[in-house]
Amino acid sequence: MAKFAVTPANEAQRDAWTGGAFPDVERVRPGLWSIPVPIPINPLRYVLVYALELPDGVAIIDAGWNTDEAYDALVAGLGVAGYAITDVKGVLVTHMHPDHYGLAGRVREASGAWIALHPADARLLRERYDDEAVHSLVERERALLLRCGVPPETLDELAGASMRIRHVVSMARPDRLVEDDEDLGLPGWDLKAVWTPGHSPGHLCFVSPARRLLFSGDHVLARITPMVAVHPQLGPNPLADYLDSLAAVRKLEVDEVLPAHEYRFLELAERVDHVMAHHDERLAEIEQVVGAHDGVDCWRVATGLTWSRPWETIPPYMRRSANNETLAHLVWLEARGRVVREPGEPDLWRPA
Ligand SMILES: [Zn+2]
Ligand SMILES: [Zn+2]
Repeated sequence: MAKFAVTPANEAQRDAWTGGAFPDVERVRPGLWSIPVPIPINPLRYVLVYALELPDGVAIIDAGWNTDEAYDALVAGLGVAGYAITDVKGVLVTHMHPDHYGLAGRVREASGAWIALHPADARLLRERYDDEAVHSLVERERALLLRCGVPPETLDELAGASMRIRHVVSMARPDRLVEDDEDLGLPGWDLKAVWTPGHSPGHLCFVSPARRLLFSGDHVLARITPMVAVHPQLGPNPLADYLDSLAAVRKLEVDEVLPAHEYRFLELAERVDHVMAHHDERLAEIEQVVGAHDGVDCWRVATGLTWSRPWETIPPYMRRSANNETLAHLVWLEARGRVVREPGEPDLWRPA
């Protein structure tokens, strides 16, 4: 794919990311702060929490993982901005993943802040993070993997692969459900929600038209593309949702994108075009692999694709993601009539 690199909004922040360092707490604009909060055991290393000043405190966008280290970093970062954790009035969460939602409950306990989330993500919380309910989720994941042709000896390991990170989320219920296009009503801010399903069914971006800023969560990032994968909790065609959501934010007139990972950048439309081109290439590659077999299962397609490292060295949790991302592309191709599925255990895919 043609190389395209976005222009970082702040080179020091970009250099911190590329150099493996931790970026500084930063005043992005008057009344707006960027606070990096560490994520343990994860190559993303940190979540960028944004603090928006209000007349009587701050609202934050995303919270971080539920660890003491993350909590301490958030408290310290707010301190640099001149605020205490008790000044937090609201926590706007872009989506329910642990690195964004995990710490929200603890912030509410400390401050009395409300927590806001899109209803489509709020609906999934109980099943994901409740000790009883999660078993049925693991069972459905197992059935999905079976239909993908995952080898029996790795099936259990892959089906339960997310269990190990559940402790980094506190099962807090949101206080506010935020719908598409809703004005958040933050004094001094014209902040509006943009519903961007795909990476998660209830993913939200937040836009300030007057300040020409987009808080993009995991939806659009400077260098990486978010995982868009079939999951028992997601709609039937998450890649179609995701590509539609990319088109929705591409129209926004903003000068700067403030994502939850990596670093801030300019040129939203160009970045969106590049991410769309990436998925087009992936779709073409998958179509080619399907075309080379007379009926092939998803797992085998996944192992035949190019990944950022050799398949044999990819750990089980990431292999499951790779498989489910491949399935998202197969489902998209099926919906477009470019491949057909012969249902079974496993499902076999053929060119249309
Ligand atoms: Zn995420
Ligand atoms: Zn994330």
